[in-house]
Amino acid sequence: MTAPTTHSAALERTRAEVCALHAELVRWNLVTWTSGNISARVPGTDLVVIKPSGVTYEDLTPSSMVACDLDGRPVESGGTPSSDTDAHAYVYRHMPEVGAVVHTHSTYATAWAARGEPIPCAITAMADEFGADIPVGPFALIGGDDIGRGIVATLDGHRSPAVLMANHGVFTVGKDAKSAVKAAVMCEDVARTVHLAREHGPVERLAQEHIDALYDRYQNVYGQRAGNDS
Ligand SMILES: [Zn+2]
Repeated sequence: MTAPTTHSAALERTRAEVCALHAELVRWNLVTWTSGNISARVPGTDLVVIKPSGVTYEDLTPSSMVACDLDGRPVESGGTPSSDTDAHAYVYRHMPEVGAVVHTHSTYATAWAARGEPIPCAITAMADEFGADIPVGPFALIGGDDIGRGIVATLDGHRSPAVLMANHGVFTVGKDAKSAVKAAVMCEDVARTVHLAREHGPVERLAQEHIDALYDRYQNVYGQRAGNDS
C-alpha cells in the first residue's frame, strides 16, 4: 500500500523530524543499543511515524521511519515498526490530544520504575514540567494492548506527561515530538536529582499550593517558549 499523495509532504516532514529527534535520546544518554523509540502523528492524517525495529541509532534515516495506521499496521512496504508500536498506537487511539509518544529505559527513571515508586514532586523544575509526582503505571507484558492501556489509564487526566511503567521504563506524551522528547529528558533529570537527594536524607514533596502555582506559571504564563532556566 502507499500513503495518499496529498499526505506525502506532511509524512516526509514528520519522518525527518522523528528521525532527527532520535539523536536527542542518544545525546541525553537515555537509550542503550536499540532500546527506546519515538513516534509522532502525521498532521492532517490518521497516520503515525515510528522508529523501525532493531535498527541502531546511527543507522536511522528519515526514509527508514515506518508509517503506520492508528492500529499500528505499516501502510507501506519496507521496515518493521518498533516492537512497542502497539503501545504507541493505543495511546493515539485513546488520547486525541497527544501528538507524540516517547519510550526509553533511561537509567534513573527506570530504577524508580523497578521499585514501583512514583518520583515525588520535590523540586521546582519538576513542578514546572510535570505539575505532580511522576506516577507509576501497572506492570504489563509487551505485545497487545496491555502497555498502552496502562499508559492511558495512568496519564489520561493527569498533569504529568510521563509515566513510569512498573519494572519497565518511561513513556512520555506531548503535543508534538519535541515536547514528548523534552519530557523524557526532564523525567530522567529529575529522577536522578531526587535519587541523589534521597541518598543523604529524606526528601519532602513541595506543598501542593506551590506545585500548583509553579505549574500554572510555567505552563500558562511563562509559556512553552521558555527554556527550563527558572
Ligand atoms: Zn521498553
